[in-house]
Amino acid sequence: MGIMRTLQLLILLLPLAAAIQPSAQDPVPGQRFRHLKWGSINFLHTTDKLGINSHGWHAGHLQEPQYSADFGDYLSFTSHLRNIAEENGVDLIVLDTGDRAEGNGLWDATDPMGKYTRNFYRELPLDILTLGNHELYNGTTAQNEFLEMVSYYEGFSQISRKFVTERQGFRIISFGFLFNFTRNYKNTRVKTAADTIKESWFQEVIHDIDVDLFVIIGHVDIHSIEFTQIFEAIREVHPNIPIQFFGGHSHIRNFRILDNKSTALESGKYFETVGWLSIDGIKAREAPDNTDNTSMVVSRRYIDVNRAGYQHHLGKNATTFDTPQGLLMTERLAKYRAGLGLDRLIGCAPQDFSLSKHIYPGPQNWYSYLEEHILPVMVYNKERSQVPRFIFINTGSQRSDVFKGPFTYDSSFLISPFTSKFIYAKDIDYSIAIHLRDFFENDAGPYKSSDKSENPLENRQQDTAEVDIQSSPLVNHDQAPLTHSQPRHKYSRVIGYATIDDAGTDGDDTIHIPLKRYPTPNVIQGNASFPEDWESYPPAKIDIVFFDFIAWHVAAGLNEITGTKDYSTEDFLPYMRQEDTMTKLLLDYVAKYWGRDC
Ligand SMILES: [Zn+2]
Repeated sequence: MGIMRTLQLLILLLPLAAAIQPSAQDPVPGQRFRHLKWGSINFLHTTDKLGINSHGWHAGHLQEPQYSADFGDYLSFTSHLRNIAEENGVDLIVLDTGDRAEGNGLWDATDPMGKYTRNFYRELPLDILTLGNHELYNGTTAQNEFLEMVSYYEGFSQISRKFVTERQGFRIISFGFLFNFTRNYKNTRVKTAADTIKESWFQEVIHDIDVDLFVIIGHVDIHSIEFTQIFEAIREVHPNIPIQFFGGHSHIRNFRILDNKSTALESGKYFETVGWLSIDGIKAREAPDNTDNTSMVVSRRYIDVNRAGYQHHLGKNATTFDTPQGLLMTERLAKYRAGLGLDRLIGCAPQDFSLSKHIYPGPQNWYSYLEEHILPVMVYNKERSQVPRFIFINTGSQRSDVFKGPFTYDSSFLISPFTSKFIYAKDIDYSIAIHLRDFFENDAGPYKSSDKSENPLENRQQDTAEVDIQSSPLVNHDQAPLTHSQPRHKYSRVIGYATIDDAGTDGDDTIHIPLKRYPTPNVIQGNASFPEDWESYPPAKIDIVFFDFIAWHVAAGLNEITGTKDYSTEDFLPYMRQEDTMTKLLLDYVAKYWGRDC
C-alpha cells in the first residue's frame, strides 16, 4: 500500500523530473569526486545562504552550473542521507548557521521581505540552527524572524541545549552564537560571547557531566576570538570532552583544529557549499566501557551544490535521486519565482563583468563599470544635479559577477541586494574630499561588506595550476573546454575552490582548478557633473554622496583629513529617495541602456 502511494506520487510528478530550477544549467559531467567518509555521528552544514538558491542565472557559465542545485534537491539529498544513516545505525545532524535573509529575489522581492523563504527553511529537516547578522539589520525582518522562526522551533529549542541522538545515544549539549555584532536594529539585542560565557545559566549548562559531545554553532568566523573564548570556557570544565564547532559569516570553506578533541568547520557561502563532517571513535552513552575518546577521527568535506555531486555521494542517478517532497519543493520554488516575475528579462548584459576575476581598474571589472558608467548617471538629485560630486560605494555592496546575456529581475538582487540609501555631505572643500578615497583604503571599516565577501582568505588557493581568466580560453562560454584541451584526462576538471585548511588540501568534494583573483579596493568612486578640465582646475566645493552604510566612516574620514571633530553623521542629508536603492538604480540602468536583444 505504501509502495503504491509512492508510485502514484512519482507518476504525478514525472513532468518535474528535471528538479533543478528550469533556468539553471546542468553541472559539468564526468567530474572527479572525493567520497564522504561516514562516522558514528555525522553533520550536514549550510551557512550564509542569503536567500534560497533558486538560480536566476541563465547565461551559460563555467562556474555557475557547479552550484545549480536548489532547495528541493537539498531536501532529497538530506532525506537519502538520513536513510543511509538509519541503515547503518549512525546519527546525522543537519544544521544551519544563519544569514538566511537577503541576497536573492525570492527573499528581497516580497513584502515583507522573506515572506516565502522562511516557510521553505521550516520544511528542511534542521536539527540545530541559529541566525546571522542579516536577520538583524532590518526591524521587520528581525521581528518576523522572532515571530515565525523562533516560535516555530520553540518546543524544540527548550530541549536543544541538551539532547540524545537517536541511534548511537550521544548526549549532546548545543549552543548557538553570533559574532560580536553591533549594527543590529534597535528591537534586538546582541550580547558578546565574552559576556555570555560568564553568565550563570551558561556556566550551569557546561558544568553538566552527563555529556558526550558539545556542538557549538555560530554565525562567526571559525578563527574568531568568539569561538576561542567559548572553547576555552568549556575546556576549563571539560578537558577531555569533544567540542565540535560550526561557523559562518566570512564566506569561506575552512576547517580549524583547536586541539585533539575539538575542530571547527565553515561551509562557504550562498548555498554553493554544503559542509560534511563526521566523527568516529568517540564515546557515546551506550558505548562499551573500553571506548574512550582517544581514537577520535574527524573527517570533513566541502560539497559543491549540484545534483551530479549529490547523486555521486548517495550512489544514485538522475532517476533515483528525487524524492516526492524534493520535487514538490522545487515545483513550489519555481511557482513563487514565476509569481514574483524573477525571471523577467530587464535587459541584456553586453559582456561578462567580474568582481575580482578581472583586473581592477579594467574594462571587464564590474567595479570599473559602476564607477565609469552606472554611478555617474544614476546617482542624481534634481536640486544638486549641477554640483560636482564624488559618489562612494563600498565594494562589499556588490555580491556577484555579471554574465553576458539576459539580465533578469532576479539578477539585480543577486548582484546588488542591499537596501542602503544614498545620503550626502554638502559643499565639502575639494581639497579635503580628494583625500577620502585614501582614507577608506587605509581604514579597517566594513567596506568589503558586513560579510567580507571579498575576504582574501576566501581566495586561499593552491598555487599550482591557477587559471587566469583574463588570459585563458576559459573566458568563452563553452562547457568545460579544459576537457577538450586535455584529452588524456579521464575526468573533467572544473574551476572552483581549491581549499587549504588545517587538515590539508583534500577537503573539497570535487577536484577543482582554482581561479586567479585580483585585488579590489574597499570603496569605489564615481565622479559626476564635473567640468571637462576639472582635474587641472578643480572646483572649490563639491558634494560627497555615499551609502548610509558607510556614513560613520565618511564622518571619521573628514575629521581625520581636517584634523578636526567638525563632522558628524547627523550633518548628512538624504540625496535620493528612500526607494532609490542600488538594486533599483541597477534595474533602471539596465532597462535604459542595455537593450533587450539577447
Ligand atoms: Zn553574516
